[in-house]
Amino acid sequence: MARFVYADNAATTPVSPTVFAAMKPFYTDLYGNPSSLYSVGREAKKHLELARADVAACLNAEPNEIFFTSGGSEADNWAIKGIAHQLAKKGKKHIITSKFEHHAVLHTCASLEKEGFSVTYLDVHADGLVRPEELEAAIREDTALVTVMYANNEIGTIQPVSEIGAICQKHGVLFHTDAVQAAGTLPVDVKGQHIDLLSLSAHKFHGPKGVGALFIRKGISLPNLVDGGAQERGRRAGTENVAGIVGLSVALKEACATMAERTKRLTAMRDRLIDGALQIERTRLNGDRTKRLPGNVNLCFEGIEGESLLLLLDLNGVCGSSGSACTSGSLDPSHVLLAIGLPHEIAHGSLRLSFSDQNTEEDVDYILEVLPGIVERLRSMSPLWEEIVNGQKAD
Ligand SMILES: *Cc1c(COP(=O)(O)O)cnc(C)c1O
Repeated sequence: MARFVYADNAATTPVSPTVFAAMKPFYTDLYGNPSSLYSVGREAKKHLELARADVAACLNAEPNEIFFTSGGSEADNWAIKGIAHQLAKKGKKHIITSKFEHHAVLHTCASLEKEGFSVTYLDVHADGLVRPEELEAAIREDTALVTVMYANNEIGTIQPVSEIGAICQKHGVLFHTDAVQAAGTLPVDVKGQHIDLLSLSAHKFHGPKGVGALFIRKGISLPNLVDGGAQERGRRAGTENVAGIVGLSVALKEACATMAERTKRLTAMRDRLIDGALQIERTRLNGDRTKRLPGNVNLCFEGIEGESLLLLLDLNGVCGSSGSACTSGSLDPSHVLLAIGLPHEIAHGSLRLSFSDQNTEEDVDYILEVLPGIVERLRSMSPLWEEIVNGQKAD
């Protein structure tokens, strides 16, 4: 029986009912501007600060280290451009990142390179992980910042963040992590993990789109990205998105409170889907099998195009993705899959399925019911597949 399965939670998640309910009063009754001095303004301000404290608690940070932004992209831009420009004044113009960051980081680094900064792009190994020792070896006298993502948005691999943090601390280099895929899904402890700056985004953990946060460790100064009014203690201008910020905090609290149970459940679903999908011949799993997000499955099927696979899955009610949502629509293979060493023709046939707590075992059953037939059908029409099969016969 046809079913609707939303399995693209790495692209975005639906707002949870409790989050939606918590946000609603801030559009209707508590609509005051937090900077206003009358009671509806003061009330909004109170909830803004409660939200800040809740977010801080989830990260083991202090409330005055949390700055709300318009999302993950802004937080990444602010952290990286801000630190780069701040430390350039001291002659430090070198940044270390990895080849498989989100474009919010990679394109920010590219724009800094145009300004004369130098950037080292660390290799990502076939398992989808950077190597701390290679990172340490890349640190120079003039290194200002290391920015390495907590978990990858395409292949879900979890980077050795604590080790990277310790290395950065040892060398006196600041460490930023894009934790947009990790926040609410994996434990985050900015103190214990020696993280100096951290980006997160509400819509990846059942909060609303267009709101995120940047954690900036106390004592770190960086220039503003958005100038204007004195909101966010003068560091990020613009009337606060109170409803969105409340939604972010409720969603994060909820995600952190249910993390252990959800991790167990999603990991079991993920592993069953991986085992089932790997029964299809000439299929591979991208990224380490266990050091990956609980809900992430990323597969390559030789001989087919990711785009046609997505279309047929969609016809069967399954939402997945090929590459990241930002780049699908272009025919370039994913920079993430190329970074882990896949050849172009294989990287083209990739499929990411990502679960959240709204998915069920029945969703896995259904995907495993339709996927093999779809792959077989596409392969039967694929000249590339014919070549692969014939090539195999020849040797
Ligand atoms: C989604 C995502 C972003 C961008 O966040 P937005 O809130 O959509 O701007 C950045 N980094 C990673 C790893 C992401 O998954």
